[in-house]
Formats: sequence, C-alpha cells, structure tokens
Amino acid sequence: MPLLALAMVADIGAAGATDEPAEKVIGVLAFRGDDAAIMRWSATARYLSERIGDYRFRIVPLTLEGMSNQVETDRLDFILTNTGNYVMLENAFGISRLATLKVRHLGEEFTQFGAVVFTRAGHPQLSRLEDLADNSLMAVSENAFGGFQMAWRELKEIGIDPFSDLSQLRFIGFPQDDIVLSVVDGRVDAGTVRSGTLERMAADGLISIDDIRVLGARRSDTFPFMHSTRLYPEWPFAKARHTPEELAQRVAVALLQMESDSEAASRAFAAGWTIPLDYGPVHELFRELEIGPYAYLSRPDPTLIWREYRGWILFILLLVALLLVLLYLILRAEINRREQQHQVQLAHIARVNSTGEMAAGIAHELNQPLTAILNYSSGCLRLLQKDRPDYRELESAIVQVGNNARRAADIIKSLREFIKRDQLRQRDIEIRDCIEPALELLRSRLRQQQIQVEVCDEMDGARIHADRIQIEQVLVNLLQNAIDALQADGGNRADKRIYIRIDDADPGYVAVAVTDNGPALSQQVVDHLFDPFFTTKPEGMGMGLSISRSIIESHGGTIEYLLDDRQLPTIRFILPIV
Ligand code: ADP
Repeated sequence: MPLLALAMVADIGAAGATDEPAEKVIGVLAFRGDDAAIMRWSATARYLSERIGDYRFRIVPLTLEGMSNQVETDRLDFILTNTGNYVMLENAFGISRLATLKVRHLGEEFTQFGAVVFTRAGHPQLSRLEDLADNSLMAVSENAFGGFQMAWRELKEIGIDPFSDLSQLRFIGFPQDDIVLSVVDGRVDAGTVRSGTLERMAADGLISIDDIRVLGARRSDTFPFMHSTRLYPEWPFAKARHTPEELAQRVAVALLQMESDSEAASRAFAAGWTIPLDYGPVHELFRELEIGPYAYLSRPDPTLIWREYRGWILFILLLVALLLVLLYLILRAEINRREQQHQVQLAHIARVNSTGEMAAGIAHELNQPLTAILNYSSGCLRLLQKDRPDYRELESAIVQVGNNARRAADIIKSLREFIKRDQLRQRDIEIRDCIEPALELLRSRLRQQQIQVEVCDEMDGARIHADRIQIEQVLVNLLQNAIDALQADGGNRADKRIYIRIDDADPGYVAVAVTDNGPALSQQVVDHLFDPFFTTKPEGMGMGLSISRSIIESHGGTIEYLLDDRQLPTIRFILPIV
C-alpha cells in the first residue's frame, strides 16, 4: 500500500509543477534471494530511468507468491519474471510481454532455453529417454519450469509418467549443480537441469562432459547447449494490464536499444533484449501437463472452464439446441407420417372388420336376386308347359332372370372392391341415376304389393363422387325395408306408397330420403336401427342398415332416421356433392 501511495504521489508530481519524476515499479522474481535480484536488475532500472527521463524506475524483488499478489492488486507497472511464471500471470491477470531477454552464457547469446535429461556415462541400462522407466530421476521441484516440467512433458509424450513409472522421483531444489553431482556420483540414475548447466560446470572444472550421457538429445542450429526437450523463450519483460501503452512502448524501444556490452546487459548476464517471442509453446506445455493455468483440466472448476472456453461452450450449446430443434422437427414429421399411416391402417381395419358384416350381409343381399331368379325361372318353366306359351311374357321373364343374375354378380364384385383398400370404384355420377336401377330390381315386388313409388328430384342433376353399385345397394336396402314395412302393415291396404326425394341438405351436400306411408318406428327400434344383426323380421338378418351406414360413411356422408313433415318414417342419407 505505501508503495502504491508513493507511486501515486510521484505521478501527481510528474503531472504537476515539480520536476520530481514519477516512479514506476518493476517487480522482479528473486529466485536466488533479494540481494541477487537487486544486483542483477538495478542497472536495468537505472538504464530505463536515464532513457525515459520523466520516470524513475525502481526494482522490487518478489517471491513467486508475492509476485502474484502484487500483480493482482495492481501495484506493479512492469514485471520481470521467468517464462513459466509469466504465462501464469498473463493468463490470470492479463500482463503482456514487451521484449524477450537475450541471455549471454559462456560467450554465447540466445533467446531460448530447454532442459537436458542425462545419466552418467557408464550407466549400464540407460541410453534413451524410454529406458528411464523403473529408474530413479532427480529434479529441482515439481513447479520448476526448466528444472522439471520441460522434461516431464517429453516423458509424458513417450508414455512415461514420472510420478508413477519411475523407481524414484526426487526433488532437491536449487542449486542445480547438486543434481549433476548426484548423477555423476551414481547416487541417482538420471537427472534433469536447465540447458547450459552442464557446460558451465564443465567450464568451471566441476565435471567432465565425458562423464555425462545425454538422453534423448536434440539438435538445433541456433542453440549451442545440450538439450533433451523442446526449446522455450527466455524471460520476458512485461507490462501490467493498467500500464499505459505509450509508456510501455517507450520502455520496449529502450530495451531493444540496450547495447550488448552495456552495464545493464552484463549485470543481467544478458546481451540485451529482442522482440517478444511466442510464448504459445509454454501454454501448450501447461495444457498438456494440466498444470499452472490449465490445472483445472485435471480437477475441473466450472468457473475457470467457463472463463477459458466460454465461446466454445456457447457455440456447442447453440449447436446442440439447433440439433434438438432439428431432431424435434424430424420426429414430429415422422410422428405425423406414422399417424397418417395409422389412420390409413385404421380405415383399412374398419373396412376389413365390416367385411365380416358384409359377408353376413351378402347372404342377405344375394338372397333377393337369387330368389327372384328362382321365381322367374320356375315362371318360365310354367309358361313353357302351356300349350301355347306367351313368348313375350317368357322373354320378359328371361330378361329378369338375366337382370337378377347380373345384380348378384355385381354384389359379389362390389364386395371384392369393398375390401380392396383405397380402391373404391368411385366416379362422378348423378345421384338420380342410382334410383332407377334400384327400383328396377324391386319392380316385381312393388307390383306384387301394389306399391306406388313417387320420385321427386329437387336438385336436378346433383353429382356425387361415389361407387355407383354401393349407392344403389343402399337404395335397394332402404326400398326393401319400406316394402317390408308396408307389406307387414297390411297386405290389403289400398294406398301403399314410397316417396323418394332428392333435395339439398347442408351447403355442399345432397340428401336422399326414402319414406313410406307405413307406421312410424318405435323408440326401441330407432335406438338400434343401425346396429348389425338388429332385426324385427322373422327372416331378417339385421344387416341392411348397418351395411348402408358403412357405405355412406365411407363416402363422407351420414345416414339417419327421421319423420318427414307428414310424420312418415324416413331414412335419409346425405353425401357431399362435386
Ligand atoms: P333387416 O331388414 O334384415 O331386418 P335392416 O338393418 O335393414 O335389417 O333393418 C333393421 C330393422 O329396422 C328392421 O328389422 C326393421 O325393424 C327396422 N326398419 C328399417 N326400415 C324400416 C322402415 N322403413 N319401416 C319400419 N321399420 C324399419
């Protein structure tokens, strides 16, 4: 807090009348203690203060934890930290790099580094990284980027989990020299250290390079030191999120212009700074190992996942929603299709069911023409037995035999049609044309019973779309019932009449009513009139009206019993007109 207050006072000073320059704070990672950090970087702070005259730059040495706290609370303007820590802070607090350090080591300059995995030269088993399984490995610490994590990534990639597949994994902290000595002395099978460490120790006479065998060695034209891992960019110089662009730009220019032999560079063990490198490979390493900013991958925290993958999650949700909508539409279409299919099947089943009724009815229907044929043919025989047969009478009887035989054939044909799904022989016909053939078939009974038939057509030419035979069949049934009723009512009655009336019903429909001047039906009969097998006649089958209703309904019409305006019993059906 005092630090921030100081910085704020200094800022106001810079903007105000005094000449006191504003202070800018550079947090540096002090991995070898505060003094070493101040020794290494204060010359850089001085260099920047000189180059950018209106600000005074100050070094604040920090531990890893201190660094996070200070960045989070916006107390630092600039950050100088190792590669791994930079990526963590970039991810968590949006710091961004301005330049990458050009390290000078053993007379060489480089902007990248890696790690080396090695064993002692005479080790009997180890010659490749793959051989490390079941051997012991020594490293700096689980969190050391160059001191362990780089090697961990390479081992993981070849299927070795250092935490479970080694005989032992030992972390001994800094300095890394102890790891090298432990390997050379045979206290551990293998070790991993930052690249350049082996060369420096050899240069200092602490080891001989011949005592060392590098495992999984890689080559690079631009990188001089032995290494077993990919290379990653060196330390970056970064700005905090709140630091103004304009100041950051001036700092970046000053760093890039730093001379390689300047005091600032040599105190930093560097040859100056270069443009900021790509830290993407570091992100990749953390992601693959599910550590650092990607630790949530191994123990998912919903809010972190949301922050990291918000775009993808929304995209996938949208996609899932779209798929669901699509699925819903497809399912609905399928359900509709099935429903329609079901309807067709139901209609078919209903037809087939009524075929049972039909079969029973067919006996009833056929009975009438067959009886007529029998009567006419025996009539013919009787005529022929006469001495002088009346050939005109004989001819008319034979014509009737033919008519009735045709009628019987039609009835059977119509049954076949009836059970054949969707193949009703429907045509546009005039309703009136069905009446004459029906009457013709019943002509002899009508004459016998001396029944007058009156046809009244109010519609004159109304057309329906129908199977002619079936409509005729309905009319025959209704007429037959009327004749039966009149006959039963009193064979001797003088004035027996049947009225057939065609008139308009509801708009778009034609009505056909068959009325007789017999007695009205009792309520008990009316209640069951259209039930199959309901009959009041000793010889009756009770199928005529039931079949008639099936036929009328299959043509989209209705049939009912009523009393006409003279209170006479009437069966009336209506059908749609075309
Ligand atoms: P069926 O003629 O074999 O009896 P229907 O189904 O054609 O079978 O008729 C059922 C019953 O309805 C008849 O038995 C009769 O009692 C009654 N019925 C039908 N039409 C008339 C009518 N015009 N007048 C009186 N009763 C009728």
